[in-house]
Amino acid sequence: MEFATVMEIKLAKMAGFCMGVRRAVDMALYIAKHKGDEEVYTYGPLIHNPQTIELLKERGIRPVEEIELTGRGTIIIRAHGISPSETQRLREKGIRIIDATCPKVVHVQSIIRRHATENYSILIIGDRDHPEVEGLMGHTFGQGIIIGGLDEVDRLPDMEKVCVVAQTTQSKDEYAKISERIRQRFPGALIFDTICDSTEKRQSEIKKMAGEMDAVIIIGGRNSANTRRLAKISESCGIPTFHIERVDDLKKIDVSGFGKIGISAGASTPNWVIRQIVTAIVRSED
Ligand code: SF4
Repeated sequence: MEFATVMEIKLAKMAGFCMGVRRAVDMALYIAKHKGDEEVYTYGPLIHNPQTIELLKERGIRPVEEIELTGRGTIIIRAHGISPSETQRLREKGIRIIDATCPKVVHVQSIIRRHATENYSILIIGDRDHPEVEGLMGHTFGQGIIIGGLDEVDRLPDMEKVCVVAQTTQSKDEYAKISERIRQRFPGALIFDTICDSTEKRQSEIKKMAGEMDAVIIIGGRNSANTRRLAKISESCGIPTFHIERVDDLKKIDVSGFGKIGISAGASTPNWVIRQIVTAIVRSED
């Protein structure tokens, strides 16, 4: 780790937990405190951050796959939400369900359900394998198509009624490009801006930071799509960008020669991880 040349460090205002992630983690920690001997699980990882998952495990809450559930105990639904059929299967098992789905994701699910029942084809712009998108697909009642890139719009079949939504952490610029192409192909398409405002602000801030700083460090889980997207946006601004997950990763990066370093973090990165990394950088300058 070489930080001797660093003259200025700027931490993004929007670095770290968004409202939905904070709410889900707070709910899980509250349950951990009061659960007694009860078995408590999360439906897959609660959020995409390994340190938070480790912390929850230490407090007796572990992520499980549906198949492992016996019907005893409590399960917490992740911030990204799940499909109605998954909820139904959990109900049938008889396990107690605590729903920590972010209210903004619930809003997108309800737009999808409303239009699917009115026979719209639903186009979801997002990452095909992301749990939020998989959950959203379940709300389309089989009328959904995931669009992962601009070229996929040209391969769509002809459709009469089209409703378009975005994964809440989708890149704003990418969504604008893809929805414009959809509008050209389907002029009557209903296009909903479902990108979360915290995502928008985080992305605008990183673009501004990329214009002011010499290099950018993005902190967050490698499995976190929104963290990876932030790093990609910073790279696309032509600035050297380092995506790290934990304080030890600082040893692997070389920022010697950069005077001004900007730091931001994904929506699922806890503040204590950000603090640890910023403190390590500041100490290494001395
Ligand atoms: S990014 Fe926005 S929509 Fe997604 S979990 Fe966070 S607050 Fe909710």
